[in-house]
Amino acid sequence: MIPDWRELINKLERHGLDAAEFVALLDWAQDAEAYTAILARAADTARQIFGNRIYIRGLIEISSYCRNDCFYCGLRRSNPQACRYRLSEEQILACCEEGYQLGFRTFVLQGGEDAWFDDTRICRIISAIKQSWPSCAVTLSLGERSRESYQRLYQAGADRYLLRHETADSQHYRLLHPPSLTLANRMRCLYDLREIGFQTGAGFMVGSPGQSKQTLAEDLLFLARFRPHMVGIGPFLPASNTPFADQPPGSVHLTLFLLAVIRLLLPKVLLPATTALGSAVADGRAQGILAGANVIMPNLSPPEVRQKYAIYDNKLTSGAEAAEGLRELKQQMQKIGYQIVTDRGDSPDK
Ligand code: SAM
Ligand code: SF4
Repeated sequence: MIPDWRELINKLERHGLDAAEFVALLDWAQDAEAYTAILARAADTARQIFGNRIYIRGLIEISSYCRNDCFYCGLRRSNPQACRYRLSEEQILACCEEGYQLGFRTFVLQGGEDAWFDDTRICRIISAIKQSWPSCAVTLSLGERSRESYQRLYQAGADRYLLRHETADSQHYRLLHPPSLTLANRMRCLYDLREIGFQTGAGFMVGSPGQSKQTLAEDLLFLARFRPHMVGIGPFLPASNTPFADQPPGSVHLTLFLLAVIRLLLPKVLLPATTALGSAVADGRAQGILAGANVIMPNLSPPEVRQKYAIYDNKLTSGAEAAEGLRELKQQMQKIGYQIVTDRGDSPDK
């Protein structure tokens, strides 16, 4: 007999679920009543912890060069059509200055795995940001590095690190990546980051090729075990000139359901309504907030590079997605009963 969704949710909140129960819960995403009730409960849980406050992070895409070849990503090294650029240190600091004026108190430096940004350069940039804007948090999302490298970045003042685990199932991981990239190393990085002291973010794409309810159950079990401070999930969106260019995009419906399940699983987690969700559907980010998300990361990169950082096709880079569009974003959030706040928004579990 299929367990009732109310029982599953109660158990999820009290002691968590096993793999079979997570699969059963995912089946309920197709039931309109259960779906609506679970999303509403997740939004309620987020409100109990964060009130109606939505944290913002300014996203600076520092490099579109990448030595890796992930099958899903438009920046993979084997994509000859990818436009490559890297920002100078001066450009990155100018983005922070603009962001600070707009009210951002967290800067997220994200990029492909670009050897140009070695420890010395990144540490210099972190120190310069911390010196000019000591009240601000620095988040990095620069992929896999050695433990020593993470340690140096932390000592230079970086506060948080986002590294999606992508999938917690090793066979599925092999389907998404060339043999040089392994789930074991991804996990090693995540555990190193957390031990060093970073507020650490994991996550995955929803609807990546080969994903199933079983692999999603593995993802949820991993999140329950690892208890990251942040979880980034968004729909897989196909990127031209990649092996997955013709694959169907991930489902927005399932992404919203998973946001809600993650909020109920880890009530205090920082959970962004991602750009991919906003790119997949017009009011995606508002829908994400109403499913329990509490973070938005507008784009603070120089406008001329935003389209070049093309991890997938049709990426949203204008309007409320852009840092300059903050007023529009504030209005969108007000309409659904939320307010954008400008504090650092550290993890309550820090
Ligand atoms: N290079 C770093 C890394 O891989 O962790 C950071 C940048 S990478 C572009 C950030 C995230 O983008 C990845 O973790 C992946 O989940 C997501 N991503 C890549 N290609 C995508 C696609 N086609 N659709 C949706 N998300 C994608
Ligand atoms: Fe590089 Fe990250 Fe894209 Fe993989 S997902 S190809 S590591 S930028």
